[in-house]
Amino acid sequence: MAEVLDTGQFISGTPVEDFEAAYARFSGVKFAAGTGNGTDALTACLLALGTGPGHEVVLPANTFVATALAVHETGAKPVLAEPDEYTHNLSPASLQASLTAHTTTFIPVHLYGRPCALYDLWEFAKKHSLYMVEDNAQAQGAQYKGKSTGSFGHINATSFYPTKNLGALGDAGAVTTDDPELYERVCRWRNLGSTEKYRHDTLGRNSRLDTLQAAFLLLKLEHLENWNRERRRAAERYTRNLASCAALQLPAADTDEEPVFHLYVVRARERERLQVFLAGKGIQTLVHYPVPIHLQPAFRHLGYAPGDFPVAERLAREVLSLPLFIGITDAEIDYVCEHIIQFYT
Ligand SMILES: *Cc1c(COP(=O)(O)O)cnc(C)c1O
Repeated sequence: MAEVLDTGQFISGTPVEDFEAAYARFSGVKFAAGTGNGTDALTACLLALGTGPGHEVVLPANTFVATALAVHETGAKPVLAEPDEYTHNLSPASLQASLTAHTTTFIPVHLYGRPCALYDLWEFAKKHSLYMVEDNAQAQGAQYKGKSTGSFGHINATSFYPTKNLGALGDAGAVTTDDPELYERVCRWRNLGSTEKYRHDTLGRNSRLDTLQAAFLLLKLEHLENWNRERRRAAERYTRNLASCAALQLPAADTDEEPVFHLYVVRARERERLQVFLAGKGIQTLVHYPVPIHLQPAFRHLGYAPGDFPVAERLAREVLSLPLFIGITDAEIDYVCEHIIQFYT
């Protein structure tokens, strides 16, 4: 912060360029472009691909609302798909049912930090001539078969909202891609349609990555692998402690997947009562997310009804995020687990 204050440059400049280069390297892509937040990063990806009115973009019904809002923002229609019951993620099988002649793009979301089956999805994209845009907001550092999430799609978005695995001290986001043309379009769009001062060849938005946030992110990026390791270790302890609890379904991962446990999400019998019981023991739990996109009042105009996505609705009723944060101790994890087991017995 002192360095940025000394330079007096608060928009763009070296910290932004350095962070973008470091984040591109971290993600295994040629280009990263910072944006003001993750929702705008998704919008930028879609607009760079030419997404607009008349197009349909498929996304999972159980994602965070921002994924659907970004599609809406482009003028395209968000079309929802069922998540896979066990991975909570989009699969080619779940996508297939949502395709129409207007589908141009689909957005796999690596929900809770668990990577989607990315090679299968990429094959699906090629087979149907679709664009793939990863929503990597919850999975920075995750890998599928040794390759980083955020490097598979034609162009991909992430968020550095403070609670994400890599969090800024405020709002921030980024786009990652290997495609120089898509990268240029994002750079113009986030900067009022301009790459050269006072020359505007295209329309755009003001959604740059703040210089201060870039400076913070550059420092925090050095710790991300350690922090992800710590999340994985905490997750393993939960899984070990809770393995014999038949009322819970614990998060799993296939051998091809290297998840980063943005959240540790179980499916729980009697979730509401469990949540109240744990709150009484001083244990905060959260639900990601209680209302699937198709049942949100804001998306009523899409014409969906209760029952349209039974898997997403069942997950919304059963999912529970247990405490997981950098610095959580083994004793704290054990305390949570003991009380969960006590509740069910
Ligand atoms: C956080 C998040 C976003 C949006 O990011 P913001 O930076 O808050 O705009 C998009 N998609 C998913 C899945 C997220 O978790």
